[in-house]
Amino acid sequence: MLRISKADYDLIRWEAEHSYPNECCGIILGTLEGGQRTVTMTLKCENARSDAAHHRYSIPPEQVVAALKLARSRAESIIGFYHSHPDCPPRYSTTDLTEAHWFGCSYVITSVDHGRASATDSYLLVGSEDRKKFLAEEIEIVANSQPIGVAL
Ligand SMILES: [Zn+2]
Repeated sequence: MLRISKADYDLIRWEAEHSYPNECCGIILGTLEGGQRTVTMTLKCENARSDAAHHRYSIPPEQVVAALKLARSRAESIIGFYHSHPDCPPRYSTTDLTEAHWFGCSYVITSVDHGRASATDSYLLVGSEDRKKFLAEEIEIVANSQPIGVAL
């Protein structure tokens, strides 16, 4: 199960719409506790696949390194990645599985139909490099943990 705040969930979906007709991509930071995966931050990344950005994505390695450092400084981990599928279902592609190497991480996919975000699904990468697969994972959307603005 992937637990994510409504704000982060909405942001991922907004980015999917904003990048249309290209794919957006990003990194998800969070915590792991007894199988409970909680998102603390989403980091928008550049899609380095300028040759085929409408149906491929690639996160620049230096952004992954920067995200790892940020996660470490917050005593957190990279717990997943997200990208979008313009005018395609939120089902992972063969390429998505081939290019996924972070075992135990969530791969979140948002489908965008004619510029509007529709379904968002998550898959957990399990196994090993020669025998890997994606398992469908439930997304739990929770109320924002921190109030926006200050009352009183
Ligand atoms: Zn994909």
